[in-house]
Amino acid sequence: MLEIKNLHAKVAGPNGRSILKGVDLTIGRGQVHAVMGKNGSGKSTLAQVLMGREAYEVTEGSITFEGKDLLDMSAEERAREGVFLGFQYPVEIPGVSTSYFLKAAVNATRKHKGLPELDAAEFLKLVKSKMDLLKMDKSFMNRAVNEGFSGGEKKRNEVFQMAVCDPTLCLMDETDSGLDIDALRTVSNCINTLRSPQRTIVLVTHHERFLNLIEPDHVHVMLEGRIVKSGGKDLASEIENRGYDWVEKEVAQLV
Ligand code: ADP
Ligand code: MG
Ligand code: MG
Repeated sequence: MLEIKNLHAKVAGPNGRSILKGVDLTIGRGQVHAVMGKNGSGKSTLAQVLMGREAYEVTEGSITFEGKDLLDMSAEERAREGVFLGFQYPVEIPGVSTSYFLKAAVNATRKHKGLPELDAAEFLKLVKSKMDLLKMDKSFMNRAVNEGFSGGEKKRNEVFQMAVCDPTLCLMDETDSGLDIDALRTVSNCINTLRSPQRTIVLVTHHERFLNLIEPDHVHVMLEGRIVKSGGKDLASEIENRGYDWVEKEVAQLV
């Protein structure tokens, strides 16, 4: 359902440095893939480019999602098609409550799918069930978007937004970072309930611990803007034990 071919991207603007240097990745429907890799290898950039952030410019390659050319769509169009990047709204939006913001997002997507909009009562029911799942405080919905949230609350909020929006492709960039062990369990549990044959989940993470809780179908390692190694869950364990240097050496030998 998601096919990335020879993707090259650079920082937008003249003299923008090139970051992605030929990413190839095919992800089937219903699968969970983890992307690992050293700091600065291009993981976040890949997520941003998939989402259509204007800070980056694609110079070569293609991204096909559900048979459609993703690169032809704006970030808003991609969101409506069901692409969701966790932490979409890291900025605080004073005065705009989370509930107002989420209801608009959910109904825009439903409209696009040809589904009727949720009324206030239906929306509340949906929100309550997801908040229970994520063990979130009831006051949360009345707070302004991300205003004064702790790091852990922002992460929980991100997974909550995702659960409510019901996307087809979930991109989660280091959702596990900065969570204490209980929050990590709660968040993993919620992500696991989102697993479905209709949905694809891509997790960017540094930690095997997170992957032990989620159990990805495939693990990929990024190095200098490309995916250089793919494997199963074992690859994450190997990286946890041995770091990334051996992957670099292996790649160097292949060249
Ligand atoms: P990762 O998420 O794997 O740590 P990133 O995708 O965030 O890596 O960044 C890859 C490289 O590109 C880093 O060296 C980073 O500093 C650089 N980079 C990313 N975004 C920008 C940007 N907007 N402007 C300049 N450099 C950038
Ligand atoms: Mg980074
Ligand atoms: Mg990153």
